Amino acid sequence: MNAGVLIVGSGMAGVTLARELRKLDVNTDITLISADRGGFYSKPNISNALAAGKTADQLMMSQREALAAQLKIEIRAGVEVTALHPDTNTVTTSIGDIRYEKLALALGARPIRLPLAGDGASEVLSVNHLDDYAEFRRALDGKKHVTLLGAGLIGCEFANDLRLGGFEVDVFDLAPQALGRLLPLQAATFFQQRLESAGVKFHFSTSIVSVVKSNARYLLHDNHGVLHQTDLVLSAIGLIPETGLARTAGLTTNRGIVVDLYQQANAGATDAPIYALGDCMEVGQLNLPFILPIMAQARALAKTLAGTPTELHYAAMPVVVKTPACPTVVCPPPAGAAGAWQETSNDNGVRALYLDNEDKPLGFALTGSAVTERQSLATQIPAWM
Ligand SMILES: Cc1cc2nc3c(=O)[nH]c(=O)nc-3n(C[C@H](O)[C@H](O)[C@H](O)COP(=O)(O)OP(=O)(O)OC[C@H]3O[C@@H](n4cnc5c(N)ncnc54)[C@H](O)[C@@H]3O)c2cc1C
Repeated sequence: MNAGVLIVGSGMAGVTLARELRKLDVNTDITLISADRGGFYSKPNISNALAAGKTADQLMMSQREALAAQLKIEIRAGVEVTALHPDTNTVTTSIGDIRYEKLALALGARPIRLPLAGDGASEVLSVNHLDDYAEFRRALDGKKHVTLLGAGLIGCEFANDLRLGGFEVDVFDLAPQALGRLLPLQAATFFQQRLESAGVKFHFSTSIVSVVKSNARYLLHDNHGVLHQTDLVLSAIGLIPETGLARTAGLTTNRGIVVDLYQQANAGATDAPIYALGDCMEVGQLNLPFILPIMAQARALAKTLAGTPTELHYAAMPVVVKTPACPTVVCPPPAGAAGAWQETSNDNGVRALYLDNEDKPLGFALTGSAVTERQSLATQIPAWM
């Protein structure tokens, strides 16, 4: 089989790239292959769909056939790429080899699994795709209590959604606070209190070490030797970019698949037409697994693939944490940037600015009523890249 532009992955990155490229070029032959269903859904919806009573099918915004017809592309679903061959512009897949003129890798990231002991460890769920969400909904049927591993962005969103859905929720994290990588102390405390008022129970500086089946429930041992009981365990401790295929094929990888400003991967001696975007990609040492960066990547790469080489630039891009119990927006400072958090708070919210040595803001975190400042502050933060 032959393809003009071959996109691997039908998540937000792969589909948005196909859409942007089609806008610029009505003729290019675009083939999208994906290990999953090949339709389009917005992944952020899966951590606040439960309380809204949405099933996985209801979250699918375009079925594969409709998407293919709308974008005038070919979509092959349920097809796994098993090897890349940069020297021959070919990929090996579960349905045979495909030769391409240009290849875009939009492989996403997969959940990190904790090394848990116990016969229930393999039944711990992670929700990173629509099918995971369908399985999660089935597993919740008839259950009352859910334990979340991880008090990061996704863990807290699920915790809030589960509470709104009527479940009891305990959240464990080795960090001493919620949203440990995103919020300074006062903002984190405010956030924690709001979620606790909504019924979420946090256990900080604590991790679960074993999951043992006990009738239809699970017994959980934590690292302090305390025993807990639950009906379902959901892990949300982070994601690791899908780099295995690229690394095996000799492309440069670090945390993600390393690309230059044109999002082209480095294939060593071969100047291969291989590009990457989305959660699997790293540029300028930034791996940003969020929607706004993906939009910027897809727009720039579409121009490059359509014949106008276009560098990727990142404005500062705030992330909205979808916890209705505590509206929160974060725009983290660049990793390692010199400076300090300055927090001001009242009963209704916390405004935290990360100021450099000249008192210029490099990042911010807003909780509660302070989120109204999101737009005005975002314009003051220097571009990320
Ligand atoms: C629960 C949750 C809530 C989120 N909420 C937000 C939010 O509110 N705001 C925000 O900005 N971001 C949010 N994010 C992050 C955001 O959703 C992701 O950054 C984005 O969806 C990633 O898109 P992607 O296309 O890069 O990867 P994915 O959606 O993971 O897609 C990867 C694709 O690659 C395919 N694939 C992988 N390997 C192969 C292979 N070998 N062969 C064939 N196909 C393959 C997969 O089948 C899939 O189609 C959230 C993430 C989660 C999990």
